Amino acid sequence: MEHIDAILALRDRVSHARRQGKRIGLVPTMGFLHEGHLSLVEAAHQHSDFVVVSVFVNPTQFGPTEDLEKYPRDLQRDKHLLDGQGYCHVLFTPSVQEMYPSPQETTVNLPTLTQSLCGKSRPGHFAGVATVVCKLFNIVCPDVALFGQKDGQQLAVIQRMVRDLNFPIDVIGVPTVREADGLAKSSRNAYLSATERGHAPILFQALSWARAEIESGQRLTSEILSGIRNIIDQDGLAQIEYVEAVRCDTLQPTDTLEGDIMIAVAAKIGTTRLIDNIRVQIGYNATL
Ligand code: AMP
Repeated sequence: MEHIDAILALRDRVSHARRQGKRIGLVPTMGFLHEGHLSLVEAAHQHSDFVVVSVFVNPTQFGPTEDLEKYPRDLQRDKHLLDGQGYCHVLFTPSVQEMYPSPQETTVNLPTLTQSLCGKSRPGHFAGVATVVCKLFNIVCPDVALFGQKDGQQLAVIQRMVRDLNFPIDVIGVPTVREADGLAKSSRNAYLSATERGHAPILFQALSWARAEIESGQRLTSEILSGIRNIIDQDGLAQIEYVEAVRCDTLQPTDTLEGDIMIAVAAKIGTTRLIDNIRVQIGYNATL
């Protein structure tokens, strides 16, 4: 695996691979890698011949009171994990100066898609994400880019940006990788104390209850959402930020469960904000 931190050197390396007829895959990350990230790299390996993994803690997607400074970082460990897996050809780790040599005047905004869910409590977050991913797409020019379904709103935002701005890139959503007790793997899980960690699986337990209800025929969004709220409230420690059922592509709320639906939750456990979601495909004939 090569390690590159300059944009020009990265462009040269990718052009060389493309001239050899290789299909380029990109996995954008903020590092402190875990099995969730590695499943994206594995998917990139399946869908391309030359895999670029970026590690960049993007300052513009953090709000002023968020965790930019304390966000966990361990590049040596990240390198070790990627080397051990053996699918990444280039690890790209630009500095903030390299990515933003002067203040960024241009921003990519998707106002409707970012009104709901995490967008409500994180103003500017998705503009930061869309803009940095747009920059990475223009730097790497991948044929395929991989994103986790765990960040369901992010995935919808990127898919829409690619469509609206005519990027010739296939965006693939990769299913969420979980701990044995169901907690979605996340770099931010490192913030949880032992007690908080014990409570954290409640989000997935509530979502699993919802899936079982839907599989038994429940189609009323209100019943599902209030059931999820009750389960999480009973936990005692988790503080719900939102529980919503939305269409996977438009992120519009839906009263009846039909089509491709994402049921998403965000909650704080102590000071750590966790998100999770499940996707359900519900046909008009009421089968899952
Ligand atoms: P991050 O480093 O948190 O910005 O995440 C980088 C990419 O990994 C994003 O596309 C995330 O959606 C994805 N990702 C994070 N956690 C998981 C997980 N548990 N399972 C699958 N993908 C994930």
